[in-house]
This record gives sequence, structure tokens and C-alpha cells, in this order.
Amino acid sequence: MYLDVNPELCTGCSLCEAFCSFRREKAIWPTKSCISVLKYEREALYIPFTCQQCEKAICAEVCPVQAIKRNAHTRAWEIDANKCMGCKMCVASCPLGGVAFDPHRGRAFKCDLCGGDPECVKVCAPGALKLVKGPEVVLAKRRRVTQNMLHLLQNWGVETHV
Ligand code: SF4
Repeated sequence: MYLDVNPELCTGCSLCEAFCSFRREKAIWPTKSCISVLKYEREALYIPFTCQQCEKAICAEVCPVQAIKRNAHTRAWEIDANKCMGCKMCVASCPLGGVAFDPHRGRAFKCDLCGGDPECVKVCAPGALKLVKGPEVVLAKRRRVTQNMLHLLQNWGVETHV
């Protein structure tokens, strides 16, 4: 499973951020959300960023204590908070900003697909976020999502380094 993000449908309402943080922290706390919406208000361009559950996850590879493992059921990469030592290697290594750092806990965190029933997908009224199941389509869709995002950014003259 992974989250298929379509920036062209996103209205920038940020409900996804609010509900993600509420599920995790029982508070509306966007910086504790596993999804972030990049906003270019003047251009009305809104780009949700979250983990794309890569087949070959660089975050898991660079973790010095092997704290990031795949969930066998959802196929989401999950961080074991008991193992994570807060070095931020995973945060720095992800080109899509899929891993964040919680300064209060001193630990990295990321999307775990809510165990297979993501809150962000449920609250996204325009359908900009979709849960995609089926390993056969995953790689192609991820490439499309990344290309869409890069294309949008480049169209609007945003410098990209991916
Ligand atoms: S809930 Fe949907 S429309 Fe609203 S900001 Fe998130 S992705 Fe965009």
C-alpha cells in the first residue's frame, strides 16, 4: 500500500495535516503530522508531501541502528521509537521529505499508513489523497507521483534538487 498524491486536486485546506497530528498526538499540531502541504498561495499551488513507501528505502538503509522496518501487512516503512536514537540520518536522506523529526521526543517519525486505514485519505474531500493497494502498480505510480510533483514545481519556477 502507499498514498497516491495528486497535487492538482489539492485545495490546500490542510485537513490532512490536522487529522494526522490529531491521531498521533490527540491535538491539532501540524508539525507533528506525517503529511505536509507545501503552499504557494499566489499561484494557488498546493503540494502534499508524505512518505511514498519506497521499494528501496534509503531512510532504512542509512539508519545506523536498523530502526526502520517494513510492516509485513501494510508494507509501510515504520520507525521503532525504542530503537531510534534521533540522529536524523533518515530525515536528511529522504529526497521527498518523507521523514520528520520530533524535537520533543528526540525521535524521527513518518507515515505508517495508520495501519492500512489512513486518516488523511478519509478527510481529503477533493480526493487528492488515495490509498493504493497492490504491489504491481506501486513502482509505476510512485514514479508518476514524483514526476507530477517535479513537473508542477518546475512549471512554477521552483528550483528542485531531487
Ligand atoms: S486534505 Fe486533501 S485537499 Fe486538503 S490539504 Fe490535504 S491533500 Fe490537500
